[in-house]
Amino acid sequence: MQTADSVKVKAIAVRAVPYGESDMIITLVGVETGKITATAKGCLKRGAKLRYAAEPFNFGDYVLAGRGGRYVVTECEQIESFGAITADIERYYDGCLILDALAKLSEQPAPEEFMAALNALSRLAYSNEDPDAVIRDFLLTAIEIGGNRLDFAHCNACGRALEGAARFQDADGIVCESCANFGSIEVEAPLRAFLAGESGQTHAIGLRANILLLEFVHIMLGVKISARYLTEQL
Ligand SMILES: [Zn+2]
Repeated sequence: MQTADSVKVKAIAVRAVPYGESDMIITLVGVETGKITATAKGCLKRGAKLRYAAEPFNFGDYVLAGRGGRYVVTECEQIESFGAITADIERYYDGCLILDALAKLSEQPAPEEFMAALNALSRLAYSNEDPDAVIRDFLLTAIEIGGNRLDFAHCNACGRALEGAARFQDADGIVCESCANFGSIEVEAPLRAFLAGESGQTHAIGLRANILLLEFVHIMLGVKISARYLTEQL
């Protein structure tokens, strides 16, 4: 925070929509501020200096003028564009999932979630790692930051080693069939074995595991992220 009318925030642009003739309204998630909205004036004009500041995935030091939740972007020093994400359709959809999740997890400042998202975006943009693995790590990390570490190898109620299928329930996480309560969710044997690291990955298994993790994120963190980010790649 600088003067009363100008703030500097280290933030990722998670969403941008055109407004009026040539403005964009940007949703930013700041590492210390959580979610904020700001206008980038004139940025749709040809040669506009701040066009990149209104691109989703842009990570930078934004200087915002204004107060009380009404801000205008006056400067932005780019740290990363993560531009490589938009060059590949699967990585692009996975990147959009990360941005959507980050926005929904950051109604309040959420620095750990911010760092997890930044790490996932870096891996999507600059590594050859399987994008399914990046999404899986991100979702498991978000659940862990929320206070629940999911163990797919042991029943979290009675402690015995799991074989075959298991169940998920909000109160305990992953449990065996005998510890499961009414209303628990099935974790099919191949998905449980895969998430426990006992079996290798095919794209189909990796994808189904991530769709299941989205359901756990919804139940445990109250954040609904659409599975279409994953299924529209198919
Ligand atoms: Zn059990």
